Amino acid sequence: MLNITLWGTRGSIPVSGPQFRRYGGATTCIEIELGGQGSSTPSRVIIDGGSGLAALGRATEQNWEDTILFQTHFHWDHIQGFPLFGPLFNPTTNLRLYSTSREGRTLFEVLSDQMKRPLFPVELADIAATLHFEDIDDSGQRSFGGLAVEWAEMCHPSGSTAYRISNGESTIVFSGDVEVRSGGRSELIQLARGADVLIMDAQYFEHEYPDRMGFGHSTYNDAMEVALEAGVDRLFLTHHDPTHSDDALDEAVAELRKKVDGPLQIASARDGLQIAVGEPEGTSEVEIAAQAT
Ligand SMILES: [Zn+2]
Ligand SMILES: [Zn+2]
Repeated sequence: MLNITLWGTRGSIPVSGPQFRRYGGATTCIEIELGGQGSSTPSRVIIDGGSGLAALGRATEQNWEDTILFQTHFHWDHIQGFPLFGPLFNPTTNLRLYSTSREGRTLFEVLSDQMKRPLFPVELADIAATLHFEDIDDSGQRSFGGLAVEWAEMCHPSGSTAYRISNGESTIVFSGDVEVRSGGRSELIQLARGADVLIMDAQYFEHEYPDRMGFGHSTYNDAMEVALEAGVDRLFLTHHDPTHSDDALDEAVAELRKKVDGPLQIASARDGLQIAVGEPEGTSEVEIAAQAT
C-alpha cells in the first residue's frame, strides 16, 4: 500500500485567509510513506520542496534516516520550503535528492544559492543532515529496492519532470507543472497509463486559460481528459491558482464531475489530504475525502 499525504497543493505562491481555509495555501509537497516494503526500499519519498515541506518536517520528528526526494523543477513555489525544513538540522537525517538540471544549474546549486546570506541565516553547507544529490536525465527509470520510479520531461518554462512511482501493486503519478496544450500531452498520458492515482497540475479554469496561455499550466478540463485517456482510477487536481477560493474550487470540480460518464473519481487536492492507495474498494480515505469536498 502507498500512503500519500499532500502537504502543499497551491501554485505560484502560498496564500492564507478565510477563503482558502478548506483547501489550504501551502505550495507543492507530496509525501509517500512506504513502510514495510523491505530493507532496500526507502521508508519515505517526497516530491518537491514547496512551502508544504516545512509543514511535513514539523509533523514528523523521527524516521528521516532513509528518505528520497524527487524534484520536478526549481521554480520558487517548489523549493521555498527547504530552508525551513526542520530535519535539515537533525544529524540523523539522511536525504537523497534526485533532479534534472535546469538551465545548466543543478538542484544542489539552486538550493545552496537559496540559503546564501543574506537570503537566509544558515547556509546549506552548515546544516546537520547528510544530503546526497544526484543529477538524473530528462527521462528514465530506476528501481529503489521494491520501488520502481519512471520519469519524463514535461512542457513548462525551463522544463519540469513528471514522476510515476510504483511498489508493484499500487501506482501514483505526479505530473509536475505542465501545460499539456503546449506539448508533452502524449508523454504524460503514456506515463500515467493505468495508474491508481494521478495528481495533476490544473491551475486554471477553462475560461482563464486564453489569457494565461504559455504560462506553463493546464486546466481542469485538460487534467480530466488526460486522466480519461490514461485510464487512471482517481484524479486529484492540484497547483491551485492563488486567486482561487475554496468555493471556486468546489464549483469547478462539481462542474467537471458532471462531464465524466464513467468510473473516474475526481477531487481537488487539498493540504493535509491523505490518500491510501491499495486499500480494498470502498474503504479508502480517498473516497471519504472526495465526498467531503
Ligand atoms: Zn509551480
Ligand atoms: Zn513551475
